[in-house]
Amino acid sequence: MHLLHAASELHPYSKTGGLADMVGALAQSLARAGHVVEVVTPLYRGIRERFPAIRRASWRFDIRLGSSVVSGEFWRLDPEPGLTLWFVDQPGFYDRPGLYNEHQVDYPDNSARFTFFSKAAFLLARHLPQRVDLVQCHDWQTGLLPILIQHARVAAGWDAAPRTLFTIHNLAYQGWFPAADWALTNLPGSWFHLESALHYYQWNCLKGGLALSDALATVSPNYAREICTPEYGCGLDGLLRRREYELTGILNGVDYGEWNTTANPLLPHPYTADDLSGKTLNKADLIDELGLEPLDEVPLLVNISRLTDQKGADLQLAALEELLAAGNQFQFALLGSGSPGLQDAYADLARRYPDRVAATIGFDSGLAQRMEAGADFFLMPSRFEPCGLNQLYSLRYGTVPIVRATGGLNDSVVDPRENLERATGIKFQEPSAAALANAIRKGLSLYPRPDLLSHFRKNGMRADFSWDRQARLYVELYDHILHGV
Ligand code: ADP
Repeated sequence: MHLLHAASELHPYSKTGGLADMVGALAQSLARAGHVVEVVTPLYRGIRERFPAIRRASWRFDIRLGSSVVSGEFWRLDPEPGLTLWFVDQPGFYDRPGLYNEHQVDYPDNSARFTFFSKAAFLLARHLPQRVDLVQCHDWQTGLLPILIQHARVAAGWDAAPRTLFTIHNLAYQGWFPAADWALTNLPGSWFHLESALHYYQWNCLKGGLALSDALATVSPNYAREICTPEYGCGLDGLLRRREYELTGILNGVDYGEWNTTANPLLPHPYTADDLSGKTLNKADLIDELGLEPLDEVPLLVNISRLTDQKGADLQLAALEELLAAGNQFQFALLGSGSPGLQDAYADLARRYPDRVAATIGFDSGLAQRMEAGADFFLMPSRFEPCGLNQLYSLRYGTVPIVRATGGLNDSVVDPRENLERATGIKFQEPSAAALANAIRKGLSLYPRPDLLSHFRKNGMRADFSWDRQARLYVELYDHILHGV
């Protein structure tokens, strides 16, 4: 199959979250399975310097954005057989400090930036020498692309147009723009209506992609069910219910080449499920690195996350306050950034409990690895969680996840009440600080029982969430879309 992925972030070139990890790993797995895979993504600031092997593709183009014409250029990298990466170069749009925003404020021209990106992706879909069978679009930034393809199919008689699959990584981010910005698409006004991207008098990029692509996917089976309900549907549940039978949930996988405990240059002490002594050494190093008090037999809880309501960062703060005030014996380390109020609140907690709590505000992939390896428990109290990756990394790292039973967290963690034999973590239901505190107390009572704790750890470390398996599910889906099988 000849596949084109369009995504606004791609690990290891650019990343703000799980989208980047998913697209990077899926594309690689598909190429290794023998498919011809292309990925198109913006050329953000610093990528070329960090990856000097990226070359000019000698492909310049002019794109109409309303009444203006903006020129751009493709750069390319062929990192392994069967895989080609296309970087869209437009310095005015992408040579900036952030991907989507700065200081929590969205760039005011995001509609133009991602219209330009979708139009550049369209050029590839249309003009690559070998016909593309299927275009997989990821999240709102590519919401225009299925519409451009559908328009070319219908209005310009593009009979060989690829099929389109739209993947939702997070329904809460929809790309809302003033209706007037639709002019940037240069599509007829008659294509902007309630059955496409028009939503409450505005242009909803995600909605357009969901409405006009041939098929839909999201990143876990449970989230696929949840988003068809008003509670999780973010205002698009009606549309999703109408397309429920064309919506497939496939859990993300883990790139075990990068996230492993045995051959990982980012981890000081390797370890395995059968010999966890290296994990104990990683924990001691981490406690030292974070400036926490070295304490014997005290569990270390961690969280690595965007500090947002979605991730339950506020619930976590309240639960930790309660447990610390009550004198429970544990240490906690946070790595994250997001809402300034929450950043300050975590920094304040760390100031008040300097021996017990560490808060690192920022984004640090190396520290994220060391925290996964050194921790005993990983907290994910998400209000909703399309897939979640950190619980999957935690499982492989023998770090017991404590998660709210939602989205992909519910699909990937086994609570002892569901199956003691296969238990890997602790789940709770209510999105409240009290329910989280209760689940943490369960973890604290598990910690002094080494046999039971190691049972959880070993189950988690042996669970297989590899991309090869999940990529096969995508190939089955592509086959179904292309051939109806
Ligand atoms: P989301 O995509 O909603 O942010 P996921 O759990 O799917 O959440 O993926 C988050 C990814 O980003 C993981 O790879 C995680 O390790 C990483 N990550 C999140 N915050 C940070 C941070 N502050 N520093 C380093 N890595 C982070």
